[in-house]
Amino acid sequence: MKELSHWIDGEHVAGTSGRFADVFNPATGEVQARVPLASKAELDDAVARAAEAQRAWGATNPQKRARVMMAAVGLINRDMDKLAEALSSEHGKTFVDAKGDVQRGLEVIEFCIGAPHLLKGEFTDSAGPGIDMYSMRQPLGVVAGITPFNFPAMIPLWKMGPALACGNAMILKPSERDPSVPLMLAEIFKEAGLPDGVLQVVNGDKESVDAILDNPVIQAVGFVGSTPIAHYIYHRAAETGKRAQCFGGAKNHMIIMPDADMDQAADALIGAGYGAAGERCMAISVAVPVGDGTADALRERLVPKIEALKVGPWTGGDDVDYGPVVTAAAKENILRLVESGVEQGAELVVDGRNFSLQGYEDGFFVGPHFFDHVTTDMDIYRKEIFGPVLSMVRAKSYDEAIGMAMDHEYGNGTAIFTRDGDAARDFASRINIGMVGINVPIPVPLAYHTFGGWKKSGFGDLNQHGPDAFRFYTRTKTVTSRWPSGIKEGAAFNFKAMD
Ligand code: NAD
Repeated sequence: MKELSHWIDGEHVAGTSGRFADVFNPATGEVQARVPLASKAELDDAVARAAEAQRAWGATNPQKRARVMMAAVGLINRDMDKLAEALSSEHGKTFVDAKGDVQRGLEVIEFCIGAPHLLKGEFTDSAGPGIDMYSMRQPLGVVAGITPFNFPAMIPLWKMGPALACGNAMILKPSERDPSVPLMLAEIFKEAGLPDGVLQVVNGDKESVDAILDNPVIQAVGFVGSTPIAHYIYHRAAETGKRAQCFGGAKNHMIIMPDADMDQAADALIGAGYGAAGERCMAISVAVPVGDGTADALRERLVPKIEALKVGPWTGGDDVDYGPVVTAAAKENILRLVESGVEQGAELVVDGRNFSLQGYEDGFFVGPHFFDHVTTDMDIYRKEIFGPVLSMVRAKSYDEAIGMAMDHEYGNGTAIFTRDGDAARDFASRINIGMVGINVPIPVPLAYHTFGGWKKSGFGDLNQHGPDAFRFYTRTKTVTSRWPSGIKEGAAFNFKAMD
């Protein structure tokens, strides 16, 4: 069986802890590789080496660092198919969707080519008599990225790109479920000219995450994953004085107004609800039609589309809509929540519980599910299911619909479908959710804007990618300077205006 490694000082290094995790092919249920789980000693060693490498990298001028980003863009494009194949085989998502995963990460590396401009400081000439004042952005040192299974290319690239472009060294701890793509990306960055040791990929689980949190050299932690772990990491990181941004789970609502284009809304719900088997933090899992007429019109369009969804392995051709979920445990959790929906009185209109795919009976496939008449006290409404399950909650009015989304504990993404500009504007302005779509079901911002949820979907105060990432991965230092030829004042004992 294939044995994966860590990536330390520019080469593959075998694990020494003796602990491993199985990496599955979710389409067949077979174990296709095992990945080492680092011990605290292995993590600490990687950090010490990274700190050494960071000194020269941090002192490298930003255009040289940008050139590494530029070369990486070319190489990622060159290897797009290879990366997407590896990604699909461990995650299960379709080949086209896997390429999208790489592409949305790549766009952040493209943005990072602008590092010299983004890192420019501020300067005030003659802030006082003979006094100039300037602020500069300096790298933090060694930082860590801890990433989830569901975007094994995109999210590591969101972490690596800005951290490295700002002159930091990064310890990347990817998900143990699909670790191959991050290792391949590390090889690509070496080929692009990144010095050895500046990017260390340390595979692991809670033990290595705790070692990251306890290591005093690590200055910042960027985490993406489920809310309980995001919360845990945010608190532990703060206790040890690290800067932290921790993005968590989601329950994204799409509100459908009576004046919306119902065909467009139904298509949007199908793609956003069932794409990637619902394993997206920006998936729409709750449809909120306003009025029974809207709900009935939507349901009439949705049901045949959901029943026609083609579920299959990533090798199954271009017409496969979505693949298996990532593990048997994920599948069990989804089906347990579906049972709770039935028990708690929701109407299971499309029932995927007995779904089985010929030739792939041991794969982690979950058939599509659609619930109507869901209420806000049910577990399928309150909890993140992270599977191909769409719930419809009928609202009597726009105010009830927006109130529902606002009262939910998660606040990652949301959307409204309407032709009414007033309603759309009011929604975008009032909603307490980080990313908003107007007739756009999955409003993932492009690389030059920032990505981040509110409420229990995000802890910390700066977002991912865009200008925020350059703020997160740098510290501002402000210098006030006066040279002897400036006006001499004698000793000053009080603060006063510089005039
Ligand atoms: P997860 O929380 O299980 O794992 C994320 C990372 O944390 C992994 O690297 C994992 O090894 C580590 N980890 C797991 N358990 C840990 C523990 N007890 N202590 C310390 N570290 C631990 O998440 P996942 O299942 O890999 O990913 C799916 C989740 O991520 C969903 O909740 C999804 O909504 C969320 N997500 C959020 C965003 C966002 O931007 N808000 C983006 C993608 C995914």
